[in-house]
Amino acid sequence: MELNRCAKCSEEFVFKRAVCPKCGSQEFTKALVTGAVALDSVHLIATPEPFPDDYSVVLFEAQGGARGFCRTTFEVKRGDRLKIKDDENGPVCEPE
Ligand SMILES: [Zn+2]
Repeated sequence: MELNRCAKCSEEFVFKRAVCPKCGSQEFTKALVTGAVALDSVHLIATPEPFPDDYSVVLFEAQGGARGFCRTTFEVKRGDRLKIKDDENGPVCEPE
């Protein structure tokens, strides 16, 4: 999974922005998520297509402070370190 990183101050965020909220720069690069840790998770049993019938949505925080969501079919607890990648439906994670 890639984050958007400000080319000037290195602030990272999941969703692309027109202007960096920290320094006002309009130049960004991409950076792979590193050091992601699970902050919370919610187990889902009634899910929309095309997702599995039973999975969890995990709120994570990357090493640089950016927060986002990934989904997983593994058991993830608060504080678990995560490996995150993308599939055709978005970010997918599993415990490291
Ligand atoms: Zn910035």
